[in-house]
Amino acid sequence: MVDLKGQYDQIKETVNASIQEVLDNTAYINGPQVHAFQKNLEEYLGCKHVIPCANGTDALQIAMMGLDLKPGDEVITADFTFAATVEVIALLQLTPVLVDVNLFNMNIDIDAIKKAITPKTRAIVPVHLFGRAANMEAIMEIAAQHNLYVIEDNAQAIGANCKFSDGSKRKAGTIGHVGATSFFPSKNLGAYGDGGAIFTNDDELAHKLRGIVNHGMYVRYHHDVVGVNSRLDSVQAAVLNAKLPKLDEYNRARQEAARKYTKALSGHKNIIAPEICDVCDCHVFHQYTLRIVGADRNGLMQHLLDKGIPCAIYYPIPLHAQKAYLDPRYKEEDFPVTNLLVNEVISLPMHTELDDEQIQFITDSVLEFLK
Ligand SMILES: *Cc1c(COP(=O)(O)O)cnc(C)c1O
Repeated sequence: MVDLKGQYDQIKETVNASIQEVLDNTAYINGPQVHAFQKNLEEYLGCKHVIPCANGTDALQIAMMGLDLKPGDEVITADFTFAATVEVIALLQLTPVLVDVNLFNMNIDIDAIKKAITPKTRAIVPVHLFGRAANMEAIMEIAAQHNLYVIEDNAQAIGANCKFSDGSKRKAGTIGHVGATSFFPSKNLGAYGDGGAIFTNDDELAHKLRGIVNHGMYVRYHHDVVGVNSRLDSVQAAVLNAKLPKLDEYNRARQEAARKYTKALSGHKNIIAPEICDVCDCHVFHQYTLRIVGADRNGLMQHLLDKGIPCAIYYPIPLHAQKAYLDPRYKEEDFPVTNLLVNEVISLPMHTELDDEQIQFITDSVLEFLK
């Protein structure tokens, strides 16, 4: 699905030199590379505070720990996403409230959020799924009306823009009260191990989060709040410093591959291909995900695998149907879109090194099966 070796070969010298600096100065934890990365990412995102941490799941958890949420508070999130999003809500003894997504962008549905709000609702967690920005303008409006926090799960969409009706654009992850991202190797900005970060423009919250990631310490050996140990290590920060300047180029390469896929596939009666937006960078294609309608999606998957083409179903089971997250309040009819998508979606290889020949082979193989 990804070609991390091909990408590394292109940037080997910069990455190796950056890692060598860490090896030479031996500041493996909290070295100067970590601070430099924090500053570099703040500048890239146009966000006041970046707090690096150990992975994207921690980033979500710590973001939520920084808000004054109490056990039993309801947190609304999308039914169609990776489990990490709902997992941290449950771990913190908050009550996850899963809601449906919409067919247009596969992101949390605005009307479904409105319907799910109760007097106990305290936060909304939109996920910018597959690299496509959720409708943050509408979400922030609902949040303001109901006095709710917004925590953006930006693990799949670093670099994507959210567009507002006044014409302005802001980076996904920096619009809510707090945002979280992951630097898992296959993400759009991937380290060579685990990594994550939290974003916020709120000075007070940033201070609180910086303590939480470090055992709740604001002054050495004084523990003011219950924290965790969650650090981005210096080697990962060194890799990220070498790769961040290429992020826009990488996202453009993904968009270019997506454009070619959609051009080849979009006319077919059994395929609904992602729309390509030329103006606003609202989709950075962490995944390129087709909907297969009126045809055998699983058969197509097997056909592609048989031809040596990696492909995957993100995600095969709605979160509301996962054993860990069952809730008697959920009714199947509340999730028509997620229930449809889990049977229709298939993601094709997507990375920065796809060439025309590969794309042609993949799209020919898809069309060969569907005829
Ligand atoms: C990858 C991912 C995460 C978790 O990130 P890790 O670094 O693997 O912990 C959270 N949410 C979404 C939507 C993701 O894709």
